Parts: sequence; C-alpha cells; structure tokens
Amino acid sequence: MTKPSNVFRMLALVAALCILSLYSQVPQPNGAGVEPGILPAKWIAGGPKCMEEPEWQIHEYNADLYILRESGCTHYEKPFLYVVFGDEKVTLIDTGAGQNDIGRVYDLVVSKWLKRKNRTSIKKMVIHTHGHGDHIAGDPQFQNRPDIEFVPFDIPTIQKAFGIAEWPESTGKLDLGGRTLEIVPIPGHHATDVAFYDKRTGLLLIGDTLYPGRLYVTYWDQFEKSIERIVRFTNGKIITHILGCHIEQSDTPYLEYPIGSFYQPKEHALELSRGHLLELHQALVGLKGKPTRLAFRDFTIWPLGPDVRGEMSSTRKATEDRLRPKMWNQTP
Ligand SMILES: [Zn+2]
Ligand SMILES: [Zn+2]
Repeated sequence: MTKPSNVFRMLALVAALCILSLYSQVPQPNGAGVEPGILPAKWIAGGPKCMEEPEWQIHEYNADLYILRESGCTHYEKPFLYVVFGDEKVTLIDTGAGQNDIGRVYDLVVSKWLKRKNRTSIKKMVIHTHGHGDHIAGDPQFQNRPDIEFVPFDIPTIQKAFGIAEWPESTGKLDLGGRTLEIVPIPGHHATDVAFYDKRTGLLLIGDTLYPGRLYVTYWDQFEKSIERIVRFTNGKIITHILGCHIEQSDTPYLEYPIGSFYQPKEHALELSRGHLLELHQALVGLKGKPTRLAFRDFTIWPLGPDVRGEMSSTRKATEDRLRPKMWNQTP
C-alpha cells in the first residue's frame, strides 16, 4: 500500500509542477524576446531515389544556428546534428551515423558562415549529446585535428569541459562568446546524455531523451530522475522547441515507422514542445517505477532489456530486407 506521506508528496509535486509551468509564459505573445528561427516543412527522408538524395540536408534555423540531417540512404538512423555559432567559438553537436563525411560538411558550414560575416576565423569545437554509435561515428574525422577542440563523451571529460561539479545533479555551461549554452546532465537513455539549452533562441537540444519516436530507456531510475530534473530546469524558461536527434514517428498519431526504416516519406515534424516533456513526466510518475512500453500520440516510452534488443534486431532486419532492394527507386 502507498504510504499517505508518499501520496501527499506526489500530489504536492503535481501541484507544484502545474503552478511552476505557468512561469514558462510571457505576458504578451510578442516573440518572448528570443531570436526566431525557421524549421522546414519537410526533411530529407532517405528517398524515393537514393541516387538523387543529398547525403546531408543543411538547414538554416537562423543565421547563427544550423541543423544537419543525415540521409537515410547513408544510415537508417538518419540523425539530426546541430551547429551553434557564438562570437568566438562554434560547436558541432554530434558527428553522425555510419560512414559519413561530417568533417567536410562542418568545415563547409563554418567557411560559408565566415564569408557571410566577413570574418577569417573562429574557434571550432565538437561535442556530443551522448555516446551512442549513431552520434559519434564521425569522431575520428575530428580527433587529432589541431584546429578543433574535440570533447570525447566520457563523464569526467564532459564534467571538466562544461564545469559540471556533481554528475548528474549539477548543470554546466559552454561559453561560445556572447552566447552561453546551459548544459544539463540527463542520463537514462545512455549513461552520458546531456541536454543543451540555448537562451538566445529558446531551443532545448535534448538528444535521444525526447523526440518523435521510440524513447529507448536503458537505465529506468536515472531516466525518471533526469526527466524530473529537466522539467524543473525548464520551469520559468522560454522553450520555443524541444529538438531531439531522430524522427521515427509518422505524421499519423500513434503510428511509427519500424526500426530500420531509412525511407520515411510521411514522417512527423522534428520539433516537440514543453507540453510533450510534461506529458512524458506525467507518464513516468503514473508508471510508479515500473518499466513499461507505452505509446503516446507523438512518442513511445520503450524500456530496453535483453529480450527487447532481440525483438528490435529482428524487426530491423525484416524492415531492411523489405526496403533495401528498392532503395534506388522507392514508391513515395
Ligand atoms: Zn542514443
Ligand atoms: Zn540516436
């Protein structure tokens, strides 16, 4: 039986969250004082013809923030990467999946930005949302490059690079010159997850912790605590979009593309809102510590275990076997 004190604590928490969520508002719908940006109506989605598909989509959110989407023809994970410019430093967040040429693309984006700004140089950095293979595959292209400050994804290095005193309770900062990203450790999907909050645009870059798709949870307890912490962190802050690193959901509610789908002509938008974060938090509170697969309109909570991994690899193989033979000419 749940102790009355626990019930009271839970009710108090829900009430506090409801009240605090009001503080994420501004008095007038006047843009909230953040730099606006644009998201595309559609991203490249791995087809219909892989010969015609660009390997990367370079999207200008605004003049100082770019989103890169890797093509599904290169790797079925087709992750999103971010390039954020300050006055003194630019950082690439993640290095993509599979065999890619992210080193060339990062250099290209930076050189065009320098031309645009009539500048000759800026310090370059590479960091990660977390250490999964589909976010670090391009790392060797940056390690040992003297012009790049490369931050590997192990916890002590992350703490040192961003000044995170206690992992995962404390937050850290990355000063890019006139633009500071706040960094919040949110382990649970992986051991090394961090979220980046950019006050200038109001964007919360949240890695694989929340996106329109399968939210794989490796460490359930840590995930619960991290979601609680990021909800608290975002209280009172302007959140324009929550941007993750994948799309696996279709544009039909409750309908996903199965794992291994490299071509997704009718996929969900990338951007989610703080409302989705509150929905996820509420679901975790309701599950009372019991790892459970649970589908919502725009995402699915997906606890990982050995049996689940087996299911995922057989689904992935079946999907790839179905799609690969048609990759050069798929039906839209
Ligand atoms: Zn991941
Ligand atoms: Zn991922």
